[in-house]
Amino acid sequence: MRWSGQELQTEQVGALPGLARLNNLVRTVQTPEFAGITFHEILAKSALNHVPGQSAMPFGYTINPYRGCSHACTYCFARPTHQYLDLDAGKDFDSEIIVKVNVAEVLRKELAKPTWGRHPVALGTNTDPYQRAEGRYRLMPGIIAALADSKTPISILTKGTLLRRDLDLLVEASERVPVDLAMSIAIYDDDLQQSVEPGTPTTKARLATVTAVRERGLDCGVFLMPILPFLTDTRAHLDEALRQAKAAGATSVLYSGLNLKPAVKDWYLQWLARDHPELVGRYLELYAGGQYAPKEYRTWLAARIKPLIRAHGLERGIVDPATGGLRSSALPASPERMPVPATRPTFAPAPSPGPVAGPTIDQGPHSLSWARTTETPQSLIAAELPPDLTPTLF
Ligand code: SF4
Repeated sequence: MRWSGQELQTEQVGALPGLARLNNLVRTVQTPEFAGITFHEILAKSALNHVPGQSAMPFGYTINPYRGCSHACTYCFARPTHQYLDLDAGKDFDSEIIVKVNVAEVLRKELAKPTWGRHPVALGTNTDPYQRAEGRYRLMPGIIAALADSKTPISILTKGTLLRRDLDLLVEASERVPVDLAMSIAIYDDDLQQSVEPGTPTTKARLATVTAVRERGLDCGVFLMPILPFLTDTRAHLDEALRQAKAAGATSVLYSGLNLKPAVKDWYLQWLARDHPELVGRYLELYAGGQYAPKEYRTWLAARIKPLIRAHGLERGIVDPATGGLRSSALPASPERMPVPATRPTFAPAPSPGPVAGPTIDQGPHSLSWARTTETPQSLIAAELPPDLTPTLF
């Protein structure tokens, strides 16, 4: 069965009342290539989402070509956004994927408006733009081209190795606008990774994507988030994670603990009860106060991981004032935006130094580089963002 042969199935609108309310559903598609997943193709009314000024977001605009995500991470903070469509935050989020098939076309019109201020635009802050469906729909090339043509800085965070398909385009775009790339890689235990992120590419494949980006002369950060209490917060796991990220060529690592909003908490705890029932009680205790682990845990985690990040040379770089993201080594030192040199330094993987031995105690306020980090927290892709995003409106 080919996608092009799919019939319009608008009668299914009745089965999904939230989608019907959108009044812009083109068709609903199921195909053996994506067993168990239903795609709802819609005509988006807008592509750019403005992040409210009072939001904790460090950037002003986002684009979400997809709603829902087949990467199916059990901890995904974006799950509650599916409830705005009368879909559930659990299985439906993983398997009922909304596709804005005209997103690049609509985006181009929005960027052409004289009022567009060329603000940095982030992708991957809500759902993953390089989830599996992107292999079929190919929405990202049009989005990247539209942003670059309009001189709009681009930031992309993904778990999708499909990013490699667009590297030529991203390198070309980076010669015209700032481009910040980051891979989200949090689990460095293969069994655990397949269990808790069942739809994602392997850790090894994502690390190879980091290397591929670096070999093209672009910086690539790694988001080590979320760190899962009692599962991935051991010193051994964190040290190994950072060692592998460094060996892959990561230019920086950002971390955060696990954030469990109510609907996410339910789904995550169901997974935990299946795979790690012995931990359910400890999680209930740790998250008894709400969606965040208590301050004591977060302080303990920071004291554990910050020295490791520093020891592996993966602290955040200098913030780029043009994007709010990390300054790319391919860009000039001046805050003024200038053309990127034709010849870029490229990354060649080096032998791994192995686990870092040494003190586990944070060096505290004497650490100049961490002081710099906390003074300038304006990263365009500052986290795999947990806050209460205003729901993306079509
Ligand atoms: S890849 Fe990101 S958006 Fe997709 S399910 Fe995982 S955490 Fe959510």
